[in-house]
Amino acid sequence: MESVFIVEDSRSFRMLAEHEVRQCGFHPVTATCLTEAQAVINHTTDFMCAVLDYNLPDAQHGEIIDVCLSVGLKVIVLTASQTEKVRAKILAKPVIDYVPKDNRHCIQAVCSLLTRLSRNKRHHVLVVDDSFSLRKHIVTLLERQYLTVLEAKDGEQALTILAQKPDISLIITDYEMPKVDGLQLVYAIRKRETELTQAIIGLSGHNESALTARFLKAGANDYLTKPFNQEEFFCRVHSCLDAMDNERRLFTLANTDFLTQLWNRRYFFERNEQLPDEACKHLAIIDVDHFKRVNDEHGHHTGDDVLIEVASMLAMHCPDDRVARLGGEEFGILSQRKLTAFTQSLENYRQAVADRVMTVTDLPLRITVSIGVASRSGNLTELLLLADKALYQAKASGRNQLVVFDNSDTQ
Ligand code: GH3
Ligand code: MG
Ligand code: MG
Ligand code: MG
Repeated sequence: MESVFIVEDSRSFRMLAEHEVRQCGFHPVTATCLTEAQAVINHTTDFMCAVLDYNLPDAQHGEIIDVCLSVGLKVIVLTASQTEKVRAKILAKPVIDYVPKDNRHCIQAVCSLLTRLSRNKRHHVLVVDDSFSLRKHIVTLLERQYLTVLEAKDGEQALTILAQKPDISLIITDYEMPKVDGLQLVYAIRKRETELTQAIIGLSGHNESALTARFLKAGANDYLTKPFNQEEFFCRVHSCLDAMDNERRLFTLANTDFLTQLWNRRYFFERNEQLPDEACKHLAIIDVDHFKRVNDEHGHHTGDDVLIEVASMLAMHCPDDRVARLGGEEFGILSQRKLTAFTQSLENYRQAVADRVMTVTDLPLRITVSIGVASRSGNLTELLLLADKALYQAKASGRNQLVVFDNSDTQ
């Protein structure tokens, strides 16, 4: 669990913050003044973030901020002061954000920021700008928030990076750039067929509203005019990342099997039906032998645990293939590797399952799997039918074996 350091002298506010931060899944560590905070920091600085009250009894002008920044802590400042001078003073320092203590929702604002920061660790952002100094400025801002940042100096380089790194979730792009400009880049990104979408924020020095509309029409999610205000920048970045998190969560819910975490049947069919009929592909169906007995003799829970173990072993043996749970104790794999390499992986898997003493009960439990494989061009339904025939043959000939459908006439 990640720790959050809270320095606040008001007892009621501190207790409320402590409670809310804990509710969000973080471990709160508290101090009531600069001296106490110093003692905590001398002992450890292992905090995801520090939430600091600007005005403390022994440090009334934000001295705590520099103390925490100097030991490398990420800082969120809470302040009751409403003056523009204090706000500017705080934001001139490399802090993550400042939150005014002007209403009872401010702890909620801190908590959403903490959650965002923690989730940022999973996100990769690509910054595309031909200006070295602006690129570095944006990179610094983003890295401060635990984001992993990649850089490109024009749209062309951005597309190369995107092709190599499909897990980028946000692209921040300038408009005027050599080779491929920002708009062309947005069009090119939106034209690509990728599993997961990416959020895009367009940037430009031109203060013209037509460009905003053009960016948005091309498919950008948001737009910022340079020079931008740091707070506004982060609000837009955060809202894009929140949207991406939601989208990815929905994608996972819709396409994966809850029990085994493999792809589900829907995903398996949807994706594999997109493959061209002409392409030669191999499909395997794996069925656990006498699985009903596992449930009958050890209970449904143990049956579930066996399915989880069998599924994770399968994913481990075929990391380069599309592995899914088709339903019940039946799994499907589609591969476009060499058939001999594919069947070798499956044979290794079958052997590994047979050799394994399942760790899911106190009693030693052994199980086996039967595998049917079909390999040819054609559509998925045909392939499935043939793999099923091969599986039936594997079951009929004693189970715990792999049978490849004999299709010598079609090759
Ligand atoms: P065979 O070797 O012929 O495949 O025999 P089998 O017992 O494995 O096949 P059968 O189709 O008769 O039984 C499959 C069993 O799988 C029946 C069903 O209750 C069980 N099952 C299906 N889904 C789940 C699940 O999610 N969890 C558990 N624990 N059992 C499941
Ligand atoms: Mg430029
Ligand atoms: Mg079975
Ligand atoms: Mg079955």
